[in-house]
Amino acid sequence: YPIIRIKSLSKVFKTKSGTVNALDDINLDIYKGEIFGIIGLSGAGKSTLVRCINYLEVPTSGDVIFEGRSMSAANEYQRRQARRAMGMIFQNFNLLSQRNVIKNICFPLEIAGVDRDIAAKKALRLLELVGLSDKASAYPSQLSGGQKQRVAIARAIATEPKLLLCDEATSALDPNTTKQILELLKDINKKLGITVIVITHEMKVIESICDRVAIIADSKIAESGNVADIFSDP
Ligand code: ADP
Ligand code: ADP
Repeated sequence: YPIIRIKSLSKVFKTKSGTVNALDDINLDIYKGEIFGIIGLSGAGKSTLVRCINYLEVPTSGDVIFEGRSMSAANEYQRRQARRAMGMIFQNFNLLSQRNVIKNICFPLEIAGVDRDIAAKKALRLLELVGLSDKASAYPSQLSGGQKQRVAIARAIATEPKLLLCDEATSALDPNTTKQILELLKDINKKLGITVIVITHEMKVIESICDRVAIIADSKIAESGNVADIFSDP
């Protein structure tokens, strides 16, 4: 069964000037172990979809089934548990500027109640995995964009999530750094078996790492399928 099933999901925002249909009847199945791309122009509804997947945003209608369990039927405790199984990385990294690299990675482990020494050891292993062992004591302001995203990836996978949601994770990076971060995501997918969802407005990101893709346009899924089929030249 799919790790994530998005079922007739719609989201309407009410604003002073009226209503916005940010998502309109979205249906998607994403399977364990795949790298799934969601591509669309700015304003298409991608970020809203991500926020609905982890229920930071409650859909207006429809449901998200995560590992066979309904998010709409879940209580707040169960939703928190589900969220813990979904790591997230962002365009702006969202690192804690007052904490060094190791402590940024330890943060979600501390919240999960992991013993400090165990957390620190695990953080060092994760730093090695993302290729930043020499930056353990550095602060985010001392790192390049690519290094910051490596730290954010290490932090996102520290709690061993089943799923990694990447929201425009390479959009602030230059092409070469983008390539390296995408390779790292591919590595994590292969080595750790984490399902990866890549949200982007850039076709080359999808083409370089995704197995399947959904195109989102005007709040709807315009098309979905294998990347090779969808983006092949006619
Ligand atoms: P994308 O991530 O593809 O750029 P978004 O999901 O951010 O798209 O936005 C989809 C649509 O929903 C846009 O028209 C946006 O203005 C609107 N929208 C997003 N969040 C809100 C909100 N909190 N209140 C009102 N409208 C919103
Ligand atoms: P605080 O002073 O904020 O209470 P600590 O300085 O005790 O925090 O560090 C918190 C945890 O992170 C400790 O387990 C510490 O061993 C570990 N730690 C901090 N910096 C590093 C580092 N550069 N390399 C390895 N572990 C570190």
